[in-house]
Amino acid sequence: MVSETKQSKNVCVIGAGPSGLAAARELRREGHKVVVLEQKHDIGGQWLYDPNVEEEDPLGRNPWLKVHSSIYESLRLMSPREIVGFTDFPFLVRKDRDPRRFPSNREYFLYLKDFCEWFKLRDMINFNTRVHYVGPLNFGISGVDLKWIVRSKEAKSEEETEQVFDAVVVATGHYSKPRLPCIKGMDTWRRKQLHSHVYRSPEPFPGEIVVIVGNSFSGQEISLELLKVAKEVHLSSKSLDIYEGLSKVISKNDNFYLHPEIDTLQEDGSVIFTDGSTIIADTILYCTGYNYSFPFLDTKGMLTVDDNRVGPLYEHTFLPSLAPSLSLVGIPKKILGLPFFESQGKWIAQLLSGKKALPSYEEMMQSIEEFYRSKEVAGIAKRHTHEIGEFEYCDKYGENVGFPKLEEWRKELCITSVVNYYVNLETFRDSWDDDDKLQEALRSPYFIQLDHI
Ligand SMILES: Cc1cc2nc3c(=O)[nH]c(=O)nc-3n(C[C@H](O)[C@H](O)[C@H](O)COP(=O)(O)OP(=O)(O)OC[C@H]3O[C@@H](n4cnc5c(N)ncnc54)[C@H](O)[C@@H]3O)c2cc1C
Repeated sequence: MVSETKQSKNVCVIGAGPSGLAAARELRREGHKVVVLEQKHDIGGQWLYDPNVEEEDPLGRNPWLKVHSSIYESLRLMSPREIVGFTDFPFLVRKDRDPRRFPSNREYFLYLKDFCEWFKLRDMINFNTRVHYVGPLNFGISGVDLKWIVRSKEAKSEEETEQVFDAVVVATGHYSKPRLPCIKGMDTWRRKQLHSHVYRSPEPFPGEIVVIVGNSFSGQEISLELLKVAKEVHLSSKSLDIYEGLSKVISKNDNFYLHPEIDTLQEDGSVIFTDGSTIIADTILYCTGYNYSFPFLDTKGMLTVDDNRVGPLYEHTFLPSLAPSLSLVGIPKKILGLPFFESQGKWIAQLLSGKKALPSYEEMMQSIEEFYRSKEVAGIAKRHTHEIGEFEYCDKYGENVGFPKLEEWRKELCITSVVNYYVNLETFRDSWDDDDKLQEALRSPYFIQLDHI
């Protein structure tokens, strides 16, 4: 049922990273009273670089991590600045800042800060406040609107606060909790083992023989960086069928080797690969991705994370039995993040105000089942459930709230940069051949909307 009168709700957003900021802004625009609880001292989420990793378990096996950001020091954006911005706040070059098309992680952090300042979001945020429990207050009592208890702790004083909200938006990210492979001998291998979550720079690995496990973005980028200081870098990949960019790097560096998966680790430092080849290594660095993890969330067992499928979630956002008072933003991967987070925030805000309504519980569950079945039929493993990888989904999602489709130039520049990445792994951030498309894009109204800043 869609309500005639707009309702204002007390909403708690957990996390002041990109998705939490986007959601908080939309909720406030819709007239809700918003409190954002953020465990760190500043906004930015992953983009708030944290060099202090010494106290973290190198494999990140604790449910409560000490470090949130997995960004390493040299990291530059994977996508060009013109496509990653919010739909009404382009990521423009600013005076005395990093002007590059694929800027540093610091520049993106500063952009997020600019966004916060421009839209005056900081006053909604309680910093240094870690949420350690969220659960329904009156679950199962019929005729009563569901409310949520949120318990948090202030970082220094450890003082605990309990608050009650009409709705909770979880925006806690999913690039912190390491996903680790199961390898024979991993628990008894005595040399250095770490996950890319705590990798910051190549300095600690001079002259070492390093095995990198995982041939995705981080595995490749960290390999490139380590080649400069390590004696040998051995990249262990699920598939030896590699694309042009990586193959160029391997042929240029005689200390860079490609291997299949690891079969066994032995106590003497041996690493035995599945093709029988063996090396003695100093360090194993797992670039094996991250797991979704919500250690604070009590949904009475209704929300589960099963092999990295968070479910059941309607449109990757709503748990049907607790919607819309509980929602999750930022779950999808392989999307243009900020515009998508905006449309998620808008939809949640309008559902809470009563302007829009979700389908029935049965219809949502049926849609989820059909979605899972379609993945199965397409042979897509459960752990890839939230990988979108298509613009059409984002456009369709936006239709729920009349959110504009992604501009054609955004899509085109995204595709050309991805292609360039696959062909020119080492240089794609500094040399490209889509200048004509770029110039055309820069003439669009999007880039002149904030000309005065
Ligand atoms: C190495 C690396 C490279 C990347 N490169 C790119 C790139 O080039 N382009 C791109 O678009 N994306 C990239 N990403 C993805 C990046 O995570 C997203 O861009 C974005 O940060 C996701 O935003 P988020 O707000 O959903 O999550 P996050 O940025 O993770 O923010 C979550 C926030 O929630 C807070 N939080 C968590 N738990 C609690 C709690 N219990 N209580 C209170 N606060 C809490 C955290 O402190 C954090 O501030 C990269 C990620 C990594 C790890």
